[in-house]
Order: sequence, then C-alpha cells, then structure tokens
Amino acid sequence: MMSTYSLALHGGAGTITRASLTEEKEKAYTAALLAALTLGESVLKKGGTAMDAVTQTIISLEDCPLFNAGKGAVFTADGLHEMDAAIMRGENLEAGAVAGVQLIKNPILLAKEIMEHSDHVLLSGRGAEEFAKQQKLIFETEEYFFDEYRFQQLREAIHEGKIVLDHTETTENKKFGTVGAVAKDVHGNLAAGTSTGGMTNKKFNRIGDSPIIGSGTYANNATCAISCTGHGEYFIRAVVAYDVSCLMEYKGLSLQAACEVVVMDKLVKLGGEGGLIAVDAAGNISLVFN
Ligand code: ASP
Repeated sequence: MMSTYSLALHGGAGTITRASLTEEKEKAYTAALLAALTLGESVLKKGGTAMDAVTQTIISLEDCPLFNAGKGAVFTADGLHEMDAAIMRGENLEAGAVAGVQLIKNPILLAKEIMEHSDHVLLSGRGAEEFAKQQKLIFETEEYFFDEYRFQQLREAIHEGKIVLDHTETTENKKFGTVGAVAKDVHGNLAAGTSTGGMTNKKFNRIGDSPIIGSGTYANNATCAISCTGHGEYFIRAVVAYDVSCLMEYKGLSLQAACEVVVMDKLVKLGGEGGLIAVDAAGNISLVFN
C-alpha cells in the first residue's frame, strides 16, 4: 500500500502587522507560497522523493524577491549578500550546508551538491563558491540581488545601529524572511531544507542557525524533519531542531508536544524569537511559532 505524503513550507517567522500588509502585498505572498507549495506537491504526488520536493519548493522561494533567500536576500553591512542554506535526508542522515556565499542563484542547490558530491557537510565563503563553480551552478550579478526595499532596510538598520531580523518590528515595512520546507514522501522518507540571507546589516561573516545541522535544519526518519526561522543566535544555542528530535526519540513525545517544549518554553526562556515547521514519520505536520 502506498502511504500518503506531507509537505510544509515557511517564508520566515515574524510579525507582518495588518496595517503594513496591503491587500496587494498579501496576495503576492500568498501566490508565491502557493506556487512553491504546488511545485513541491507535484513532485510528491508523482511518487518523487521528499528531498526533491524540499529542493523544488525552496528553489521557487529563492527565485522570488519577496523572501529573504536567494534573489531577495537581505544586505550585509557592506552592502553585499551572504547566504546560508542547508538540506538533510532523513533516511541516512546525509546533510549538506553552505554558509556566507555570494552571488549563487540557488544556495539550496549548492547545499545539495555538497551533500551529494563532496566529502564534506558544511562549506563556507570563497571555497564554497569555488566548489559551486566546479559543479557548474548558476551565479548571478549584484544587480540580480539588488532590491530597493532591502536597501532601504539596510539604511534604516545602519541608522538605528542595529543588526535586524528581516521581520523585526523596527521598520515601517515588514516582510517575511527566511524560507524552508519539510516533507515526507510516499516511500516514508523525510527531508528538510532551509535557505536565508540571514540578518540585515550583519557583519564579520556572521552565520546564522539555518546552515547549522541540528540547529536550524534537521531530518531523521526515526523522528522528524525540521526547518527553523527566527533569531539564529538563540536557535544555535538551543540546538533547536535536534532538541525536538531528541525529545521524540528519548522521551517519546509527539511531534507537536516536542515542538511546543522547545519553541514555547525553552526558546522563550532564552529570549529567542521565532519558530519552526516540522513533519514526523507518520506525516503529521506541526507549525509552532512563539
Ligand atoms: N534564522 C535566520 C538567521 O538567523 C534568520 C531568519 O530566520 O529570518 O540567520
């Protein structure tokens, strides 16, 4: 008997207040999320893998300027874009991740290449870009990544002397941010992926939680697949994604209960804002944000 499939995606945590979300904007976001979801679902419907569904879903969001990943990545303090991404296969715990790469059209594809065609899990900066060239991945120009709205966000962040999450309540206009997807396919395999431009006005090659396996991204067929979004520093310290998996594995908690302990209790106590999307081996989906 063929089992069912599950797919969940996010376009970042955060508050888009009703006042700042015009009808037109809301329609654009909904359409972009729906397009990504439809693409991912078409893979699963045909019996494709969770890994491919996650990849296709994230590529679609990376190519959309509305989200803080790929084309819409936020600006660093230097006026550049440094992107992080990770992908993980629940079947055998294979993982690939990339941190601080510039001008790569689809960082999630680079993470997948690292997983499938290198001896490593996490590559960063120049070296990662060198590897991307070898693997013939597509590079774009600075113009491709330029977005007037994002540049305005950087100006404001510099003016306020802050390093800000894409969705922090400091600017008049707010947008969703980081993107991610989790899936279970009809073969019973799980996968998770996350892609981001990180935080506006970031310096010193700051790296967030998204490319850190076990923090922002994790997948294990025995427990769950997770993609996080929020203030990365806290997600790294709380080892969020793996902690959810551990609560299921060692304490026998359900997916929803495990997510709530980590996001609504542990993270809140640390002061970490954000949340996650998750799917378990039975195909249950949890969407928990604090
Ligand atoms: N978690 C990401 C980071 O800290 C940002 C986000 O989720 O929007 O890099």
